[in-house]
Amino acid sequence: MLANKAKPARRRLDLVKGDQVVVIAGKDKGKQGQVLRTLPEQDKVVIQGLNLVKRHLKAGQRAGGGAQSMQGGIIDFEAPIHRSNVMLVCPNCGRPTRIRRITLPTGRKGMECLNCGQPIERVGRVEGQ
Ligand SMILES: [Zn+2]
Repeated sequence: MLANKAKPARRRLDLVKGDQVVVIAGKDKGKQGQVLRTLPEQDKVVIQGLNLVKRHLKAGQRAGGGAQSMQGGIIDFEAPIHRSNVMLVCPNCGRPTRIRRITLPTGRKGMECLNCGQPIERVGRVEGQ
């Protein structure tokens, strides 16, 4: 019998929408892109133009008995990539880097690039993902 239920711990990724990242594993290894969306529950991110997957759509499928039919064809969409397969690109030194969490002089939480030692400032908000 399981005594411990899964905790509804709120995961938080250290990546946010708009971050520049480089893929370090898989078919898009070495490519850079911008984070479109984060999936904290799955530890995954969606990166613009990377990890494209082709999805085949059948023509003439009808949903809910409606009169309209979907156009068939093949579309590309960005599949989520696991956090461990990407690295943040430091906006200061432009290199893929690891980061350390720091408290900025202003008292706000921030990150520091372990490559160049510069604090990384976010355009977007880190909180409230
Ligand atoms: Zn740096």
